Amino acid sequence: MLILRDGGGIQFDDGRSKSFEELLSEADPEDELIQPYPTGPQSYGTPAVNFDPGRFRCAALFKKMYGANAKEVESHLTTVPWLPHSAHLFIRITRVNGVDRQLEAVSAELDQLPPEDKKYVLKPGGTFSWRPIAGSDQLSAHSFGIAIDIDPAYSDYWRWNTSDDHGKLIPYKNRIPHRSVEIFERHGFIWGGKWYHYDTMHFEYRPELLQPGN
Ligand SMILES: [Zn+2]
Repeated sequence: MLILRDGGGIQFDDGRSKSFEELLSEADPEDELIQPYPTGPQSYGTPAVNFDPGRFRCAALFKKMYGANAKEVESHLTTVPWLPHSAHLFIRITRVNGVDRQLEAVSAELDQLPPEDKKYVLKPGGTFSWRPIAGSDQLSAHSFGIAIDIDPAYSDYWRWNTSDDHGKLIPYKNRIPHRSVEIFERHGFIWGGKWYHYDTMHFEYRPELLQPGN
């Protein structure tokens, strides 16, 4: 049992063994950790089929931490500068769990990158948006104010490269430099570019997947 600050609890492990689809829609907190998120120079290969570390999210736990509806999540949002020396933008992100401070640290480091690496992050696609994941009824990590999409113009997304033939492997594509991914990871954000169902502009705050030793 996970005990929450408000005294409520969430069952850590429901004991069920789940199909891939069930992991996406009915994950318990234990399921969130069953695929270890890879880091380091060897972690950028083509992901194996259905290797999606971080896509199994326990909705009840996210709602408890970050807010159960759009209004609750919004009440925890704050504004942080995004690349203050080059992009001159402000973005909205949650204060819960100190995510705003971590993203501000990411922003300061990205701001120091050379122009050829910086261009991928200068025009972010968005942060908070209470919405389901495309083609699903599961809430996106953007709903909780813990995610950021960098520039969609340089992004690759598995749905854009999938044929109607479901027997076919999804071809992997990525244009985002590893150097920026490592900056996000150092501050607790995982990258959607390490998923079989990849989304290379997507980063979300999931420090539980980035424990030392991974
Ligand atoms: Zn995203």
